[in-house]
Amino acid sequence: MDIKNLPDNPYLLLTPGPLSTTKTVKAAMLRDWCTWDDDYKALVQEVRTKLTRLATDKIDRYTSVLMQGSGTFCVEAIIGTALPEGGKLLALPNGAYGDRIVQIAKTLKIDCVFNDSGELDPPDLDKLDATLKADRAITHVAVVHSETTTGMLNPIEKIGKIVKGYGKVFIVDAMSSFGGIAIDLEAVDCDFIVSSANKCIQGVPGFGFVIAKKDALKACKGQARSLSLDLYDQWNTMENDKGKWRYTSPTHVVRAFHQAMKELEEEGGIAKREARYRANHRILVAGMRKLGFKTLLPDAYQGHFITSFYSPESPKYDFKTFYDKLKTKGFVIYPGKVSKASAFRIGNIGDVYPADMERLVKAVEEAMFWWD
Ligand SMILES: *Cc1c(COP(=O)(O)O)cnc(C)c1O
Repeated sequence: MDIKNLPDNPYLLLTPGPLSTTKTVKAAMLRDWCTWDDDYKALVQEVRTKLTRLATDKIDRYTSVLMQGSGTFCVEAIIGTALPEGGKLLALPNGAYGDRIVQIAKTLKIDCVFNDSGELDPPDLDKLDATLKADRAITHVAVVHSETTTGMLNPIEKIGKIVKGYGKVFIVDAMSSFGGIAIDLEAVDCDFIVSSANKCIQGVPGFGFVIAKKDALKACKGQARSLSLDLYDQWNTMENDKGKWRYTSPTHVVRAFHQAMKELEEEGGIAKREARYRANHRILVAGMRKLGFKTLLPDAYQGHFITSFYSPESPKYDFKTFYDKLKTKGFVIYPGKVSKASAFRIGNIGDVYPADMERLVKAVEEAMFWWD
């Protein structure tokens, strides 16, 4: 396959996903792949093993399962499968993705309470402790790691310690962080952690994955509230049939993901990728501050995955024009999502490098003339 003749992308995706991928990841999809034979199943097993190894070296105690759909499908699969009848979920939302966990529980008619710390603050650990002490009916606690709404990185290790102090099942939505920061499942002590193909592993959209304690997953047998989103059954089939998916698998996306995992290794693993994303973030923030922009979050709460900036105060500014101007210069940014402030977001993840961030800052400087 002559991948050199593929047309270049006209812009970089500086979004929380889908994000910019390499040509070679895209090239993996440029043919028909069969889905049921041993070649493919072995590749699925390799992906599963590698995913587990990214999160822990205790691979006998943990396992991973792939699930069709976007990341939300996987979050819903966990909530709908892990909560037994009569179970009760405590969610710790501080943004739209935390709210979505609550929405999933309500839709599935699962008893759910939540401690909302607001979009600009991390979860309140004392309140978490007090809630778990007061409400013995709570069986599961769920939190988002990198809250993509703002870019806040929530302290999952500290939360995990409290949750496990009360012996509850711990669920982490690490959708936009997994693969871009070192996470040790033992240290976080979480039972289920979830991410998807099109975030920091730098694959394309089409499936998500859950890494779970084997015991926690085995305890879910027969509990699912959905056939297609039965996480236990999906795992059980993949495990017993050595890489087989229930129902049509996103074959091409899995091939692309397999290539993306290889490229993650070639880059030097999570540590090296984290360093690149951190450098992207550092250059972006320093450059934007020089231009007069203010970050929504204080640095202490800010993760290195996506950064929110307050909109310029000029009455001439509007996001759509700003977006279009940057797009013609080769950068796609993201609208804000916080309810209390006007902001926009710029992603630091994907096949994006410090030199791209330097070019972006220059493009922003040029685009600014129209409202200055
Ligand atoms: C991307 C993302 C999701 C999943 O969103 P989908 O649109 O379903 O892929 C969930 N949680 C967080 C924190 C995310 O960044």
